Amino acid sequence: MGESMLLAPCTRCSAVNRIARTRLRDAPVCGRCRHALFEGHPFALGADGFDRHVGADRLPLLVDFWAPWCGPCLQMAPQFEAAARLLEPAVRLAKVDTEAEPALGSRFGIRSIPTLVLFAGGQEIARQAGAVGSAQIVQWVRLHVPPA
Ligand SMILES: [Zn+2]
Repeated sequence: MGESMLLAPCTRCSAVNRIARTRLRDAPVCGRCRHALFEGHPFALGADGFDRHVGADRLPLLVDFWAPWCGPCLQMAPQFEAAARLLEPAVRLAKVDTEAEPALGSRFGIRSIPTLVLFAGGQEIARQAGAVGSAQIVQWVRLHVPPA
């Protein structure tokens, strides 16, 4: 009987690691560069890495669309950090700087920031606009994705 496998792209090199769902909590590292696959904080995501991190067989991904000039975004940043510690490894958290990555912002029709978009199974399953606290982020995500 096969184990349920997921693909976890490394956030440092571009290697895509196969990992058993049951091993998610065992501090897995990248098979190529040995970098920890889960670091407990969000990583910066750009257009080149986006399609590697969002896919049918990938871990769910929560993306914070933000910009450096946006006050509420900066206020929410530590809340998003805290949420990463609580939500990994069931969900990975990433940040898209919409000023540096305007193509991603327009691809997903981001009209206000911060906006949180949750991807699972290769598609968007939920989004919410506006700054929120870590507890609200965690509660909202767990409506859609159960803990690992
Ligand atoms: Zn790696």
